[in-house]
Amino acid sequence: MRRAHIVIAGAGYAGLAAYLALRPRLDGGAIDLTLVSATDAHLLLPELPLYLAGQESEHEIRLQLGHVVRPPARLHRARILRVRSDPPALVIQGAVDPWVADGLVVALGSVPDDFGVKGVREHATLIGRWDDARDLRRRLLATLASRHGGRVAIVGGGFTGVEIAAELADTHRVPGRIVLIAPHLLADLPERVGQTARSALERLGVELVLGDRAAEVRADAVVLAGGRRIPCAATIWAAGVRANPVMTDSHLAVNRRGQAEVDATLRLAPRVYVCGDCAAVTDARTGRPVAPTAQAALQQGPAAAANLLRELAGKEPQPLQTRSLGFLISLGREEAVGSILGHSVAGGDVAALKRLIETYHAFQVGGLHALGARLLRSTGARRGRASDPEVAAHAQGESPMPVDPAPQT
Ligand SMILES: Cc1cc2nc3c(=O)[nH]c(=O)nc-3n(C[C@H](O)[C@H](O)[C@H](O)COP(=O)(O)OP(=O)(O)OC[C@H]3O[C@@H](n4cnc5c(N)ncnc54)[C@H](O)[C@@H]3O)c2cc1C
Repeated sequence: MRRAHIVIAGAGYAGLAAYLALRPRLDGGAIDLTLVSATDAHLLLPELPLYLAGQESEHEIRLQLGHVVRPPARLHRARILRVRSDPPALVIQGAVDPWVADGLVVALGSVPDDFGVKGVREHATLIGRWDDARDLRRRLLATLASRHGGRVAIVGGGFTGVEIAAELADTHRVPGRIVLIAPHLLADLPERVGQTARSALERLGVELVLGDRAAEVRADAVVLAGGRRIPCAATIWAAGVRANPVMTDSHLAVNRRGQAEVDATLRLAPRVYVCGDCAAVTDARTGRPVAPTAQAALQQGPAAAANLLRELAGKEPQPLQTRSLGFLISLGREEAVGSILGHSVAGGDVAALKRLIETYHAFQVGGLHALGARLLRSTGARRGRASDPEVAAHAQGESPMPVDPAPQT
């Protein structure tokens, strides 16, 4: 009998969780499995604030897919342009014909949303893409290491903006030179979380500009809707995300965030399942949309994979039971705030727990290889040196990088 060929589109949190769930099926020869990714690495996005601050190296936050996806599974590095559902297929950049599969798990994630604000694409760095992050880190290290480097503005009061501001401030200790701009701080979370974050950011010397939204980003400033101008040397745009544009380009039914409308089993069409940030998933218990988080993606990936297997075996797919264990927000290296199983938590132990969860994910995906890089860093840190040569050079005041006055685009 011919083996069913399953294709996973995307190697992020949902895609790799689907891959790990399907991998045991390869041993028995029940399926053929291909993972398609635009990049050669799995990016640990929740650790991006640490990377930007110079606390983590590229080896720690980018897990090479070559170490993760092993034969007989196949890894294809290719850019997906569109998803087709009848028959299940991917339209790939440069390929003459669509790649047809017996079943698809689509997990293409999200992209930063500029909300149409003038000057964002030209003058700010949007959080999400690896190449941008690498350039941004260099620029931040140079700007914040120099006394004359100017201020760094972070636009966005959600957990991404808060974590980036806190990590930068905690690492660089440059009071007043990191500015966080947002109408509200952590608006969707309980008030006490916002208050704890606010106090921690203030203690770390972050200037908070709250109560108004950014209306324009210029090369040397962020201009607020009310007209106030916040001068800065670099702007980081962390104001929100929308689903990967491949969803709309594929003419799928999408919500206002561009996420594909799936049913309670994550099914888009026969033998096509969509999961993670690019899927509009409703929490069956609350009736509310599931927020785009790594936690949700890690649940949805295996659920989508299991339902696809069920359908291929002629069984009914099962509705997903979303379980939220809570959330944790880092406020620098020594503090974090959040909620676990409905209990409020805050403090240094919580920061350590968040790191542990992130390390566990890295280990699950990348195995000992991923742990090795972290172990090297913690050994280096105990000995009082940075594991990343770029950061070490800055810390020792060696040839600071030239400060480019024009923010990178
Ligand atoms: C700075 C930051 C901090 C965060 N912190 C947290 C946190 O603390 N906790 C939490 O739960 N969540 C956090 N998140 C959110 C979390 O990272 C996302 O919700 C999660 O990554 C979504 O997983 P995903 O698999 O849907 O998408 P992703 O992980 O983004 O993966 C998408 C995959 O698709 C690939 N891809 C995209 N387009 C194409 C294409 N056209 N062709 C081929 N491949 C393509 C990408 O290369 C990638 O492999 C954070 C996000 C950011 C940006």
